[in-house]
Amino acid sequence: MTNLAERLDSSASADPDSVAVKLDDCTLSYGKLADAAHRLARLLTDKGLKPGDMVGIMLPNVPEWPICYYGVLLAGGVVVPMNPLLKEQEVEHYISDSGARILLAWHEAPGQPATGAKDARAELISVEPVAFAQTLAGVLPLPLVERDESDLAVILYTSGTTGRPKGAELTHANMRKNADLFSQEFLKLTPGDVVMGCLPFFHTFGQTNSLNSAIFAGATLTLIARFDGAKALDVIERDKVTAFIGVPTMYAAMLAAGREKDTDTSSLRLCCSGGAAMPVELLRGFEERFGCVIIEGYGLSETSPVASFNPPDGVRKIGSIGLPVTGVEMRAVDDDGKEVPQGEPGEIAIRGHNVMKGYHNLPEATAEVLSPDGWFLTGDVATVDEDGYFFIVDRKKSLIIRGGYNVYPREIEEVIYAHPDVFQAAVIGIPDDNLGEEVGAAVELNAGASVTEEELRAFVRDRVAAYKYPRKIWFVEELPKGPTGKILRREVTYPGGDV
Ligand code: AMP
Repeated sequence: MTNLAERLDSSASADPDSVAVKLDDCTLSYGKLADAAHRLARLLTDKGLKPGDMVGIMLPNVPEWPICYYGVLLAGGVVVPMNPLLKEQEVEHYISDSGARILLAWHEAPGQPATGAKDARAELISVEPVAFAQTLAGVLPLPLVERDESDLAVILYTSGTTGRPKGAELTHANMRKNADLFSQEFLKLTPGDVVMGCLPFFHTFGQTNSLNSAIFAGATLTLIARFDGAKALDVIERDKVTAFIGVPTMYAAMLAAGREKDTDTSSLRLCCSGGAAMPVELLRGFEERFGCVIIEGYGLSETSPVASFNPPDGVRKIGSIGLPVTGVEMRAVDDDGKEVPQGEPGEIAIRGHNVMKGYHNLPEATAEVLSPDGWFLTGDVATVDEDGYFFIVDRKKSLIIRGGYNVYPREIEEVIYAHPDVFQAAVIGIPDDNLGEEVGAAVELNAGASVTEEELRAFVRDRVAAYKYPRKIWFVEELPKGPTGKILRREVTYPGGDV
């Protein structure tokens, strides 16, 4: 098996009538999904698409997303997923940089797919559900186009910390093996499962861990186009969701919503968290409230994404990202690439079937992160314990150096989260003439909370070394978040003044 879209065909032939995708009242069976995808593959080849050609997909999580995704793959094309909120220059960059000639875009996209596509000389196919279905009905299904394991399946744009987004090139083998691992070894999905599809499919986490994992297993994927904690709880109750995959802010939003309402979440079998550090207090609070276990894993766009996970059948270490998954090696290394002693912080390096080919058309940027013997340098710092479990300290670039002392924001955030009035927090470095950097914390409080900045500062001061506690704390209405809902520390700014 080579082309990963073959997995959709297998699930469709096993049970064509079972529901593949659902968005509130709208459902799409496996038979209909596969048929539409094969017809789109024909439409694309009729438009001149050749195997290996790139096609942009710029849609929210709607049932047309998997039709477009598997349609491009069935035709032998390479998917370039794009956030529907991108602005025209960003659209132009993704399309020109990847060389996509066709863009499949949501007709109500608030961004500027039309102008961006025109500027990049790509053809725009508007995905308006009714018209799209009619167009597909007018073409014949195309049989799957075979691909090699090492052929590209997806180019995932990832911003990194600086510069314009780079396209991580992922092969059919990268994407297929990662989804198989997650679906079979971790979630143990079967056709009876209902998987929550609330992570955006244009991002690696939603694409592999929700979409491909569910579809490969013949399970049902229930979508939420725009995440909301209360809505998520309603969908879990309504559809009897068995597996929830999300980022920590989603768990925080559900826990907050769960305080206001009583929902039956007893169908939940397993919850997985990744994409950002899961605060220990949040994990405990969620598990206590909903009676469901959360296992944490770790990965990046460049690693398809899963690299490590807490074993669902083995020892789970709370606060840890677990052990490297089958077929993947992980080490904590120093600046010379040498493994650091156990318990010492080092940069995570990853090697295995999940590591990308490289950044699209960027040999220098690729060489900076990918060694000739296949080790990928992640930029994340971790310690490894005596059992081989990894504990993320933080991103290398997030390190705050206060008067010569190292302060990793994550450690301080964990302490702030332990305060009962805190909803979410982000710790950043604030430029300081004397110390180089001062530690600051932007905090979002729970509704009705009464803690003062002074009280919260004292709470942290009592629990960490004197050089680490945030001298500056300020309350915000809402912390800035990325497309998956991850808190974006780099966009948090200190408001100044005497806070
Ligand atoms: P992305 O490429 O958008 O998926 O972002 C990958 C980054 O997310 C990694 O480099 C980590 O910094 C972060 N990340 C992913 N999973 C975790 C986790 N469990 N704990 C802490 N950080 C994580």
